[in-house]
Amino acid sequence: MRALLYCGCHLEAEGEEELVREVLDHLRREHSAGSLGEAEAREFVATRSYRFERVRVYSDGVGPDEEFGPEPY
Ligand SMILES: [Zn+2]
Repeated sequence: MRALLYCGCHLEAEGEEELVREVLDHLRREHSAGSLGEAEAREFVATRSYRFERVRVYSDGVGPDEEFGPEPY
């Protein structure tokens, strides 16, 4: 999956193309902002999104902060 932090909101989708859609939809739905064009969204996703794998979450009191992983510290 791909994920992206945009406007302080965490967005995620199966792939970059889906994530572009997600960003555009999100801006329309949540921020009623039509200022970002598709090309800009695509560029943003291409440069700023990161690989994201959902791991077991919320299983034993583990909060959202723990859902990015596994990464050795
Ligand atoms: Zn947002």
